[in-house]
Amino acid sequence: MSNVRHVLGISGGKDSAALALYMKDKYPDMDIEYYTCDTGKELKETYELIEKLNSVLGKTIIQKKAADGSNLDPFDHFLQMYRGYLPSSNSRWCTKKLKLDPFEEFVGDDPVISYVGIRGDEDREGYISKKSNIQSIFPFRKNIWSEDVVVKLLSKANLENILNIFASLSIKSERFEEILAKPISLNFTQIQKLNLLLDCDVKAFNKLTFAYLKTTDYPLSKVDYFPLVDNDEVLIRDDIFKILKDSGVGVPAYYSEIEFEVNGKKGKYARSRSGCYFCFFQQKIEWIWLYEQHPEKFAMAMEYEKEGYTWNQDETLSDIIAPARMEQIKEGFIKRTARNKLNTKSPYLVDILSDAESEGCASCFI
Ligand code: SF4
Repeated sequence: MSNVRHVLGISGGKDSAALALYMKDKYPDMDIEYYTCDTGKELKETYELIEKLNSVLGKTIIQKKAADGSNLDPFDHFLQMYRGYLPSSNSRWCTKKLKLDPFEEFVGDDPVISYVGIRGDEDREGYISKKSNIQSIFPFRKNIWSEDVVVKLLSKANLENILNIFASLSIKSERFEEILAKPISLNFTQIQKLNLLLDCDVKAFNKLTFAYLKTTDYPLSKVDYFPLVDNDEVLIRDDIFKILKDSGVGVPAYYSEIEFEVNGKKGKYARSRSGCYFCFFQQKIEWIWLYEQHPEKFAMAMEYEKEGYTWNQDETLSDIIAPARMEQIKEGFIKRTARNKLNTKSPYLVDILSDAESEGCASCFI
């Protein structure tokens, strides 16, 4: 067999946890290395989830820590280096230093397949390493391949080559071949072609892609057999919650809705994702959730706001918890929830909380 490593990053969020359980269940013979990159600033529920996964997976989740050897938590170590400059969506040094760098160091120069838990109902690509020895695979999606692979596969320049590869495979589908033979253009985009091929036959598309990869330098070119080629399952949010519940690992407590009341009106709030308790991607209502449910963590987040640096661009954390502002945020959230409920049939508050979820750091929140 090959020396290709299979790795799966556990962010502490529900989707990567469910993916680890799914892969163990579906592909028990695959030797997957599970790892997590600790920022030192997660909620305790995240650490509990990783503990539970450790025992259910029956395999140690490798703990990676940036700035190992420093006497500070990884986040604080780098914050000191950046002289107190807090990260923000425009300057996200934390993801690079605390998640991506330790991951790439863990992987080294080995050819690696990295399994990523982006769901079938999400429209985002997630973290793709720029390192050529790392190939990302998305088992929950209909299209399990990363965008760079699809671009090369379906490019006009590759058309003749791909038709030859298709001819060498014993796939009997005239419709598939017909779509494949049509070059992409302004009127027939890559995404349209991809979707038509997948709608026609996912397994044929996977078989073709795998055969194509064998002619490249991608890590999968070094593998004789890749079982995910035969997987056409698509998993969405409900499936993720089911996997977590059925496995006994359970759903992290911060996803559970908690009731609140403001000026006689009732609402429910929760946290929409894993990651550092002070993550600047969280919504204002999530800051209030933190203030009311984990006041000690909120106080610690406030400590970081110094010398003009704040977690939110438009207001400080002490502004947010001024009584009138808190009422305003809560009332606004109740209204928004009611409006969104008319547009979505989802029973999950996270669907409403997180337009959010698709935004931000795939390494932290999956
Ligand atoms: S969770 Fe947020 S603050 Fe923490 S590393 Fe990720 S992006 Fe940065």
